[in-house]
Amino acid sequence: MIRAGVIGWPVTHSRSPAIHLAAAAALGVDLEYRRFPVAPGSVAAAIRGARASGLRGLSVTMPHKEAVIEHLDEVSDVAAALRAVNCITFGPDGRTLGDNTDGAGFLLGLEHDSGSGVEGCHVAVLGAGGAARAVIHACGGAGADRISVVARRPEAAIDAAHLAPAVAEANLASAVHDADVIVNATPVGMADTPYAGELACSVAALGPDTRVVDLIYNPLVTPLLAASSDLGLRSYGGLSMLAGQAAAQFAHWTGVDAPLDVMFAAAAAG
Ligand code: NAP
Repeated sequence: MIRAGVIGWPVTHSRSPAIHLAAAAALGVDLEYRRFPVAPGSVAAAIRGARASGLRGLSVTMPHKEAVIEHLDEVSDVAAALRAVNCITFGPDGRTLGDNTDGAGFLLGLEHDSGSGVEGCHVAVLGAGGAARAVIHACGGAGADRISVVARRPEAAIDAAHLAPAVAEANLASAVHDADVIVNATPVGMADTPYAGELACSVAALGPDTRVVDLIYNPLVTPLLAASSDLGLRSYGGLSMLAGQAAAQFAHWTGVDAPLDVMFAAAAAG
């Protein structure tokens, strides 16, 4: 049996167990996957405990993505660049490798939803936090022609743009109008926030071929997605990235390609 789980605080509502277990059931992989609530300041003990218990992997969610780094033997180039780990793999010798599958998950989700990636595209990313940084890094590596980082703090946008130095620029006021792909990586439009009913950006001037992605998955249809859809634009919510990042983790731990459709359906079922 392969044993894995997710650490976070809180972690009660994590959809990761449902997503990973659905994939395992579909493939006949013998996987146990559990939620482990880990309080801030307790990640070292949690990693030691997971290693001692023979776990193969851990998903890492808020607020531990940065804090785990100093307790790992090795981190991937992606995780080092993002200064964030969302996936720990325990080697047969107990060594710990940290990776970040958020950017790969975004690309997997976009390709799954829209049938193509970002090669040759102008991608406009709204926000410069953890999710935005993962998307910028991944799009830079996936052949985006240009990436515009639109964030309210210029210094954060400049720092995030360094993750794709050849193609990304910070904080262009008119950046979204001629974008091929727009990605909302802010909480604007998210349920139970002060900006729940707000549009992350105006969509009125977008071209008819623009793909609009909102990384939010609660609600499933955000104000941005609703407005885009009203204009006939292709628009996609955040469940695909959620399923995609889990699919990449599942492949790490099991060595088997993950069934994205199954994981997406499990993510949607909550
Ligand atoms: P984060 O690290 O806190 O970054 C949030 C970004 O949004 C920051 O740049 C922040 O700017 C900006 N922001 C916050 N409130 C804003 C507002 N009212 N107007 C304009 N910009 C605002 O958060 P995160 O982890 O990157 O998450 C961002 C979004 O992505 C959330 O909605 C989250 O649910 C979603 N997400 C989805 C997935 C998925 O798998 N689908 C994964 C991760 C995150 P300041 O720095 O100036 O505050």
